[in-house]
Amino acid sequence: YQTVRLAVLGAPGVGKSSIVRQFVMQQFLEEYVPTEQRQVFCPAVIINEHLYEVRIIDCPYIPYFPVNSLYEWTDFRGYGLRNATAYVLVYDITSEESFEYIKSLRLQILESRNCHDVPIFVVGNKHDLADERGVPRREVREVANMVKKQWKCGYIECSAKYNWHIMLLFKELMKTVDYIDYGH
Ligand code: GDP
Ligand code: MG
Repeated sequence: YQTVRLAVLGAPGVGKSSIVRQFVMQQFLEEYVPTEQRQVFCPAVIINEHLYEVRIIDCPYIPYFPVNSLYEWTDFRGYGLRNATAYVLVYDITSEESFEYIKSLRLQILESRNCHDVPIFVVGNKHDLADERGVPRREVREVANMVKKQWKCGYIECSAKYNWHIMLLFKELMKTVDYIDYGH
């Protein structure tokens, strides 16, 4: 079976740990417990009828350093992110700022991997709060289209709170990974 290393990145509080916790343990915590240190989860899972050993790296906040700076390299080494099979960039669909942050992360990844075919998968979390917080559906759709068409990345919206689209997220993600590995 395949070992898939997934690096989960994004601004603080967008729900990275919640997504991982929901997927690995089927649990959700209302309380916000910031991730202080990188955490690695290694579930063996059957997705799309394949058995995978998944290493999920749940990352703490990595501050933005200008692309091309030396710090950026140090950071990626420090977190062991350079050889990830795929990057999962999570934003909160009710926070524009959190999307700006993944834009910068994407640039850092492309720079530090020095290639443009690294699988990056974008996740818009907290879908359950979109209406409550008055986020126009049109705006969410525009972001989704930009990610799919311009970045050519996988994209999904989910809610870690309600376990909505969490399994689907990993199914779609594995399709992206398989696509890269077997090259068809
Ligand atoms: P991280 O810093 O990205 O790892 O974020 P956490 O997973 O720790 O979640 C931050 C906060 O957002 C916590 O209070 C969670 O309960 C909450 N949260 C996470 N996912 C969701 C979601 O899908 N919907 C709602 N309403 N809250 C969420
Ligand atoms: Mg966390």
